[in-house]
Amino acid sequence: MRSHVRRFILILLWTAVYGQHWTPDPYAQVSIGLVWPDGIQRLAAEGYPVEDGWFDREGNFHLPVPGSAVAQLVAEGWKVMVDIPDLTTYFQERNVPAVQREFPLGSLLGNYTLEEALARMDSLALRYPNLVSPRDSIGATIENRAIWAFKVSDNPTQDEDEPEVLYTGLTHAREPLGMMNLFYFVQQICEGYGTDPELTFLANERELWFIPIVNVDGYVYNQTMFPGGGGMQRKNRRDTGCGPGTERGVDLNRNFDYDWGGPGSSGYPCDPTFHGDSAFSEPESRAVRDFILAHDFSNVLHYHAYGNVLIFPFGDGTYPPEPDETTFREIGAAMTVVNHFPVGTGIE
Ligand SMILES: [Zn+2]
Repeated sequence: MRSHVRRFILILLWTAVYGQHWTPDPYAQVSIGLVWPDGIQRLAAEGYPVEDGWFDREGNFHLPVPGSAVAQLVAEGWKVMVDIPDLTTYFQERNVPAVQREFPLGSLLGNYTLEEALARMDSLALRYPNLVSPRDSIGATIENRAIWAFKVSDNPTQDEDEPEVLYTGLTHAREPLGMMNLFYFVQQICEGYGTDPELTFLANERELWFIPIVNVDGYVYNQTMFPGGGGMQRKNRRDTGCGPGTERGVDLNRNFDYDWGGPGSSGYPCDPTFHGDSAFSEPESRAVRDFILAHDFSNVLHYHAYGNVLIFPFGDGTYPPEPDETTFREIGAAMTVVNHFPVGTGIE
């Protein structure tokens, strides 16, 4: 993923060879035959977002990539099969209408649009004023949209002397399930308060903060360009000189300062894992940083929606000092009792 000219030629090639109609964001899911861990490390070094991929039982690695990258992967010598030629269409066709439970779904394949998410925050605060604080802006995005946070606790507008936890969603704009999951959790606390002992304890004795949409601009891009859902913008919307499509932007999940620029991130502005010009170069990552620094969080959970895994620190292959590592493993085991997701560091 290095040069525009090469990419343009490859796009033409892809279109010619596969007879595909060229759309702005023809993301595909490919299956790559590779040897672990060398193959993964090489893919990551080439700028592919390997945490979005997963292995099947035969050891093939499945990954979403721009359509233009398919021919490129082949040219780079990878053994590639196209599982799904157009992920956006795939997501749209796969959607089934409202599961029958008392949880209001949104208009974007069931996910909330930005406007619907804000209305949901407001209605929760209105309906449960003793548990949910009004939303508060913690900063502004590149395109000058507010980034919103709210708190769930008893006496939600007071800063009580209780342990604090932060939950975030949609750092990557194409992973709205992380945001929906948080609203579901909040609703569950509100409805179970006073009857469910564990949820009541959580609200009484903890302060739970939520930033459901970190990457507001990327999400608005997806809902604007693909109002039927399935938009594939991942990064924020900083103009990094890659045209108006999904190649534009900085990967906010590579823009934090810990091991900034390390393996698994890219210095090329059009790659999906572009880390930005410096750590915290982006207003969205700065807003999250400043919010964390202004609080005393015991734990922070960033919800993504790829891979079906629970990843704890650190991403560079090292382990957190004890007792943190054991704590992470214990929390991880408890969190995955039902879904059986693998738990570990990114390398594991
Ligand atoms: Zn993600």
